[in-house]
Amino acid sequence: MKHRIRDILIVAFIMLCHFTSMAADSKNPKLFIKRIHKIATGDIPSRTLADSLTRLLTAKQKTGAEILCDFSNLPQSNSKPDSQYIGDLLTIIPDHIEQKERDKLLSYLENGISRKYVCNYIINSESFHSLCAKHGIESGNAGVLENRDRNAELTMLAQRVFSFTNNRKASAEELNLLLDDNATAASVTDNIVCNSPIMNTLSDSLYVECLVSALAINLGCREREHYIGLLSQNYTRRAILRLIVNSEDFDSYCKEHGIERSQLHIGGWKNTEDGLTFIDHISGAKVTGYFSADGEMCYFDENGILRTNWNKVEWVTDTISELYTYDKLCADIERLAEQYPSLLTIDTLGATADGRIVFDLVIGKDKSSRQVIVQATSHAREYMCSQLVMCQTEHFLQNFWSGTFDGASYSELIEDCQLHIIPMLNPDGVCISQFGLDSIRDPHIRDNIMKIYYAENPKVRNRPELNTFLRMWKSNALGVDLNRNFDVNRHIKTFLKSPRSANYRGANAHSELETQALVGLVESLGNIETLISYHSAGEEIFWAYGQKGVFRQQCQNLAEGLKDITNYKYHSEEDFGTGCSNWATSKGIKAATIEIGLGTSPLPISQFQKIWNDNKDVLPFLMKSR
Ligand SMILES: [Zn+2]
Repeated sequence: MKHRIRDILIVAFIMLCHFTSMAADSKNPKLFIKRIHKIATGDIPSRTLADSLTRLLTAKQKTGAEILCDFSNLPQSNSKPDSQYIGDLLTIIPDHIEQKERDKLLSYLENGISRKYVCNYIINSESFHSLCAKHGIESGNAGVLENRDRNAELTMLAQRVFSFTNNRKASAEELNLLLDDNATAASVTDNIVCNSPIMNTLSDSLYVECLVSALAINLGCREREHYIGLLSQNYTRRAILRLIVNSEDFDSYCKEHGIERSQLHIGGWKNTEDGLTFIDHISGAKVTGYFSADGEMCYFDENGILRTNWNKVEWVTDTISELYTYDKLCADIERLAEQYPSLLTIDTLGATADGRIVFDLVIGKDKSSRQVIVQATSHAREYMCSQLVMCQTEHFLQNFWSGTFDGASYSELIEDCQLHIIPMLNPDGVCISQFGLDSIRDPHIRDNIMKIYYAENPKVRNRPELNTFLRMWKSNALGVDLNRNFDVNRHIKTFLKSPRSANYRGANAHSELETQALVGLVESLGNIETLISYHSAGEEIFWAYGQKGVFRQQCQNLAEGLKDITNYKYHSEEDFGTGCSNWATSKGIKAATIEIGLGTSPLPISQFQKIWNDNKDVLPFLMKSR
């Protein structure tokens, strides 16, 4: 019993001592002031300062948080290096002085977060609250933080993106501007990258590299190549930024660091220097090609610029003139290119001996899985073929919206098929047939044409007028029959031995610039599916050149389809010709020669309407048929 009383007394004494010491502290906020001041500045505060602050704390006119902020803002504190500043302040909360914490705070300060953030970190800790409670003072809070301190991890991201894309660190002011109330990882990144004066000067591959590094994303070579590839297509740099920011990779980075990402939305109409642009909401790519906006048919050119009101496009190709000249052709091509800039590309395949251009009108995407060539007027006097294929081309372009063939819309047809229209393979010859000798500029060529004239008409008595003779010209300006110049059936010896208005094969296969232009195109494209060669006249289709097996059947299907469309005669007899379509089949290309009109060429313009009606659907048919 005695012992028990003694034990109780001992316990009571210990408890009393404990309470006394606590009571002594709680009534002494001055100890708190002295301790914080010593930690922050290295010195004991002056008595006056300590006394006046004690009064304020006791009267609850100041909080512990405010004391800490005030002291750590004094020059003696602010002049310390970051690491010492952090280390000293952390001794206030001994539970949190792990090296990891120091390192994290240090890296925050080095990347643009303010020292106030460190104070706030301490003020918000449990140990600071209990320290204040122990001294009987209110802990309070640190007050308003700067934007850059609101989310340290977001600020770190902003600083890294800024450094990578600007080659310098962002200032506190810049960070505060960037990191407003609504800032997310996506919006901040977009803001920094789009306003960087450096990013747009980088090459495509450096641009992608820089973004990937700035956003700390793990991307394989293939993915990088993919993004660089998109840039070489019609994707804007911002679209690539958008794709990377919206990616899973960046999302997991943000989740890991507790940052809100949000999605980057850049789709919609944009007013650019060049005009109105539309950016796809989903892909972020510039919209090109043809689409309906608010019921209006319109289209964007290759730069994503809105070009025209579709309904106002006028018909271009001349269908009235008796002579469809090379100059008219050039003018029509130029106007079509202006009217349909995103759908029609004008390529040149080379120049002729007398300096005229062989054009290639391209519709559809490069590297399409299917390629179709339509070639016209290798024979000079058959120039109505040029007028026809120009009308076919324009008709397809003009009806791009509404046109259908056999259940497929024109826009669908073009998805995987590229058209190459060579409207006038033999422009020198066309000039000779239409305008005679004067149309040829090179005097040597003129001399040779005169030699041909005399050679073909040796007897003065029967000699036709020069212009009458030249009107029936078929060859090119050098007297080579282009449709006999191909490298096929060269063993056939029945052809002429020297330059003539027709039927001379040339010294060698593909000796002529015009033939080389066509052959070069076929070889460079590599995967031509179909080739059509337009001639006049006869309203018939040639296709059988000794093909075998499945390929023969495919060629026959092509010819039969053309027969159904045109109602022309279908040649089933084998024709071991030497022409372009014969050569094409020898290369494994489905091919046919279509002879338009009736009677002698040049055909009169009065036949054009029927020819046009007969052949209107040939282009969509070629794109549709496989
Ligand atoms: Zn012909």
